[in-house]
Amino acid sequence: MAAVETLFHRERTDDRWMDAAACKGLTHLFFPPPAERPQARERREAMATGVCRSCIVNATCRDFARANHEYGFWGGESEDERHDAGFRLIAPIGVRARDAV
Ligand code: SF4
Repeated sequence: MAAVETLFHRERTDDRWMDAAACKGLTHLFFPPPAERPQARERREAMATGVCRSCIVNATCRDFARANHEYGFWGGESEDERHDAGFRLIAPIGVRARDAV
């Protein structure tokens, strides 16, 4: 398998749990806009946390994001929290990139 194919290869998973996601239509809370400032990120992620707390697929979502090295806010966890828990991003940037070495 070519290196590029390896980097972007993802096994097919059963994603039907996403049908029960409480965050439908709230993408703006779960993924940052370009050049988001730290204070804005804190506010956005606090609102996302509130949505995740009420979500019935929270644990499944968190495990999916960890296993697939997702970006954004999933299952009540930010990228930084997943990274700190040992689930590294594929291409970390900023503070996470400095911590990855
Ligand atoms: S746990 Fe949070 S991010 Fe995951 S599906 Fe539910 S609301 Fe969305």
